[in-house]
Amino acid sequence: MSMSDTPTDWTDWTDDRTTDHDPHNLVPSGFVDAWNSQTSETVTTIPEALAVAERAPSSTPHGELRRCPSCESVTVTSKTAIVERENQEPGAHKCAACGAHFDEPLASREAELDPSQATLGEVVR
Ligand SMILES: [Zn+2]
Repeated sequence: MSMSDTPTDWTDWTDDRTTDHDPHNLVPSGFVDAWNSQTSETVTTIPEALAVAERAPSSTPHGELRRCPSCESVTVTSKTAIVERENQEPGAHKCAACGAHFDEPLASREAELDPSQATLGEVVR
């Protein structure tokens, strides 16, 4: 193909592909409406509803969230990679705030303040 064959005028082009965002009907009915009611934006599609849901604050009370042992931030994520990569840092969790990798997150603030509640270190199998 030469350069002269390459279409350059895209003004008449429209994206008529249809994308089924829920091919297995896993999204509960009312999901889009529920998130539409949570925002001033107009949410009509599953991707738009997901975008609103991702920006929403966690429904878990802040005091119940596990924390980073280095900086005590609650922005702890669990690593989900199935295959271990060569450059992967050890540890099952990573802190999004300071970048620390660790196996055991700190207990939540709530658990720390309530001595009757077991912490992760006390659990014996
Ligand atoms: Zn941290």
